[in-house]
Amino acid sequence: MGYIMNEKEGKDKIGNHDIEAFLNLPAFLTIVSSSVEVFRKETIGYLVGIKAEDKFIVEYAIPYQTAESSYVHATIDEDRVARVNEILSNVSQALEFIGDFHSHTMFGDSRATVIPSNTDLFSTVPGELNLICAVNVKKRSVNWHENKRGILTGTIGEYRIEIGGYYVDKPMVGKKYQRVIVKCPAVTGIRKE
Ligand SMILES: [Zn+2]
Repeated sequence: MGYIMNEKEGKDKIGNHDIEAFLNLPAFLTIVSSSVEVFRKETIGYLVGIKAEDKFIVEYAIPYQTAESSYVHATIDEDRVARVNEILSNVSQALEFIGDFHSHTMFGDSRATVIPSNTDLFSTVPGELNLICAVNVKKRSVNWHENKRGILTGTIGEYRIEIGGYYVDKPMVGKKYQRVIVKCPAVTGIRKE
């Protein structure tokens, strides 16, 4: 949620020790379809998958049913993580709650970005993966690809979709966050740029 228009996305360059998030197809489909369905509103949900060193594998994205409010983070139930992990512990050794996703949408003529808002950063839980899906009306069609800043980009129907990730490793002072490189070989192919 939120719109920051005076920040440039280009200042974060991909480095050697960046965290990567690999989206499996079910997670990708849910993030994109739930974000597009509520275009001009915002969706929010949680991510289930595997956390390894400097890497997240996102198996599933589950939208919250209660995301009526635009102040989405405020509605998250703190017990949710514990409940999800309790269920997962019965079915899989590896799967766990690994983070959250939410969408950003156009606000009037202002285009949505994948940059976390101050509100997003204020409510970010250290150690979790955060994905932002920005939905805008497309200007032209592009194939799904990972751009130079590690943002997964493509078009569907009349929309241009960008999925960006960020990460905070300890409780925040100020607005510092780490960019997460988002990959989805199922839609981009496995080629190297
Ligand atoms: Zn946001």
